[in-house]
Amino acid sequence: SLFHDASFYVSVNQFQDLPVHSGAEIAFAGRSNAGKSSVINTLTRRKKLAFVSKLPGRTQQINYFRIRDNLFLVDLPGYGFAKVPFEIRHHWESLLSEYLQTQKTLVGLVLIMDIRHPLKELDLQMLEWFSITGKPMHIILTKSDKLSRNRAHSTLKQVKDRLMLHYPSVSVQLFSSLKVVGVSEANEALYNWIEN
Ligand code: GDP
Repeated sequence: SLFHDASFYVSVNQFQDLPVHSGAEIAFAGRSNAGKSSVINTLTRRKKLAFVSKLPGRTQQINYFRIRDNLFLVDLPGYGFAKVPFEIRHHWESLLSEYLQTQKTLVGLVLIMDIRHPLKELDLQMLEWFSITGKPMHIILTKSDKLSRNRAHSTLKQVKDRLMLHYPSVSVQLFSSLKVVGVSEANEALYNWIEN
């Protein structure tokens, strides 16, 4: 599948240090503790590629993983962790918005949300920032194992209905890193971005 040969490439914490390359990047973003590292580890089948931590807000850098010669997976810093001091949060939020809006090699954004807390204010902020670029977005509602099958599917429908008005082209899916659910659906959605 798409992400299987991933290996660590570089970590950066300043905009001017972003690697220059001629390939494509797929970025992963989400609130701290949403389950982003676990999604990346599940998609790449690497247990510890992205660091899974019980301490939210630990991933304070942009981590690049090389998928193959011309394709990179970009793990963006988790946002929305209240205990991060304002100055640091401000630094990361400007870095995120600048990255999302100006990175030419970025082909699409994957937004990770805990299915129990979808579409929070900062998630909507990310949608707004990135939609300006006209590039595709895919939402992964993870930890779906935390809800019953019915509740998970009704949440999926609610999220789709809410996006319909302003972001009709954004795709949404259920995922569970714990139960390994939704991997092929995610692969399919993201594969389309690099095929074109
Ligand atoms: P990140 O901060 O967004 O990278 O989130 P992590 O991947 O570190 O996950 C945060 C917490 O949620 C950890 O305690 C994980 O074990 C847990 N978690 C992540 N994904 C799942 C999932 O699919 N199901 C369940 N039940 N727990 C999960």
